[in-house]
Amino acid sequence: MNIFKRARVIYILHRHSIEHELWETVSDKLTLLQGMTAVEMAHLRELATLFLHEKNIYGVQDFHLSDEMRVIIATQACLPILSLGIGLLSGWTDVIVYPDAFQVSRDERDEFGVVHHDLRLLSGEAWSRGPVIFSWQDIQKDLHRWQQGHNVIFHEIAHKLDTLNGSANGMPPLHYAMHPKQWSVAFSAAYERLNQRLQQHHGVCVDSYAATSPAEFFAVFSEYFFCAPDILQEHFEDVFQLLKLYYRQEPLLRRSKIRF
Ligand SMILES: [Zn+2]
Repeated sequence: MNIFKRARVIYILHRHSIEHELWETVSDKLTLLQGMTAVEMAHLRELATLFLHEKNIYGVQDFHLSDEMRVIIATQACLPILSLGIGLLSGWTDVIVYPDAFQVSRDERDEFGVVHHDLRLLSGEAWSRGPVIFSWQDIQKDLHRWQQGHNVIFHEIAHKLDTLNGSANGMPPLHYAMHPKQWSVAFSAAYERLNQRLQQHHGVCVDSYAATSPAEFFAVFSEYFFCAPDILQEHFEDVFQLLKLYYRQEPLLRRSKIRF
């Protein structure tokens, strides 16, 4: 970061820091943050402050967002990049929030080249270089069900990270000393294993939506990485280790500190 950017960041953190009481309220509500160290929490508060300053977070369909709701969104959006830096979330500004699941229409071409018009109900969506869209109802649901591995905000932020190298293919730009081949071999094998189990009508321990595409696999597995890392470690050990290298976080260590 150059000296001018650094000065601006210091200014924002100094002048626009999330108020103490509001931060305490949100931290208490986000029980998935339990187990984080004081240093991690302080850093997360700084990142959330920068996120709130840089992004326009607004409701649509007459949906009003309170400051607390904005901080809840910003804090979770910044958890995946806690050790990666706010720079990975640059290049876009809008966070659009619907009161509940929103409908989108898509034209999709099948394997025979026939175009189908498809209407879908979504809880979140991330556009490459465009806005991130959430359903507040689903964000709220995730506050209570995160231990099952669900978090729409982590999911969409994972898509944003994935598309940093141009396309959503389940492999974000990797750090120096991480090997793309090792990533693609481990992720492809796990993705195929998941699809095979589903085709054979076996039960799976993760949301079957992960089997939709490599991009969804990365996004869904990122949700589990932060919310239910024990499931990934037990059933997808090599993918879990690679996600640990990528996100540079130790979610299992945090889980071990939580008294359920
Ligand atoms: Zn997705």
